[in-house]
Amino acid sequence: MTTCKAMPRIMLAASAVLAAVLILFGSADVAHAQGKGKGGGKQAAPAPAAIRPPNPAWANAEVHTLKVQGNVYMIVGPGGNTAVQVGDSGALVVDTQYEEASDKIVAEIRKLTSKPIRYIINTSADMDHTDGNAKISRAGAPVIGGNLGAVAFENGATIVAQENVLRMMSEAAEGKADTNADKLPTTTYFQGQKEIFFNEEPVIVMFEPAAHTNGDSMVFFRRSDVIATGDIFNMDSYPVINVDKGGNIQGVIKALNVVLDITIPKHEQEGGTYVIPGHGRLTDEHDVLEYRDMVTIIRDRVQNMIKQGKTLAQVKEAKPTFEYDGRWGSTTGPWTTDMFVEAVFRSLTPKK
Ligand SMILES: [Zn+2]
Repeated sequence: MTTCKAMPRIMLAASAVLAAVLILFGSADVAHAQGKGKGGGKQAAPAPAAIRPPNPAWANAEVHTLKVQGNVYMIVGPGGNTAVQVGDSGALVVDTQYEEASDKIVAEIRKLTSKPIRYIINTSADMDHTDGNAKISRAGAPVIGGNLGAVAFENGATIVAQENVLRMMSEAAEGKADTNADKLPTTTYFQGQKEIFFNEEPVIVMFEPAAHTNGDSMVFFRRSDVIATGDIFNMDSYPVINVDKGGNIQGVIKALNVVLDITIPKHEQEGGTYVIPGHGRLTDEHDVLEYRDMVTIIRDRVQNMIKQGKTLAQVKEAKPTFEYDGRWGSTTGPWTTDMFVEAVFRSLTPKK
């Protein structure tokens, strides 16, 4: 989850507070918010080029593994959900959470296979999905002459992401002392999908443009019948839409419809295709359907209010999310209902 909108107010506070914010939300997002603070004119000083202090909450967080089905497992920890596919050729890892949790995540993968970690796929550039890239990659080894044809390091897993993820992560890292080139994707794709045949299974990495950000990938394990969505689908909150990084409510709905196209339920019961959301519990088609409907209804309400000429303040006042707030809303934390409504509004308002 990224947290741009919460930043500008905090930017005005003392540097000690800034340090705390860096711990909480990650330096990349803070730097980003500084560049594009809302409200106009409140441009804060550049981020200090300091090494990110380790976050004990992430280091101490529990990490555990759940078998999904087929060859696919889900590792739950302090960051976004990690999906792991294992087999004779090794492990493929979708999203790497925070670096503080990397040793625990590698230990969980080791319980599933003694074979090397060959691939990492990032569903977005967000720190809670990419921060462990370097450590987890170093725990693996790339496929020499694999069908991606790219071997970036001698001793690391190949890190795959949509091209914009590399751009966003490189920009965020610029001028920072904690820049770790080993965290960056080593193989990128531009559009459509990237196909990887691994462990006797087609793994389809699908670009979903302008959704949570403009660098989102979903990963479909075609034989295991499991899809990892990244933050396009989030069981802990309304979808996080980072408009400043190219996100848009329309792209989120489009991507949720892609998930619904792929998923097939088992007849009259739970199961069938499993869906690993960016955050929160394991789900299936039914959960995605309800989420898609909820997000679509809110989008339509905001769209109608914009047509009536309502301002952002008036839209917020009208509470277009009202009956969903008990389940999905929040007044505190990194992604509040207010921020979601604003992101929907900005998605539907032509850029000036
Ligand atoms: Zn996330």
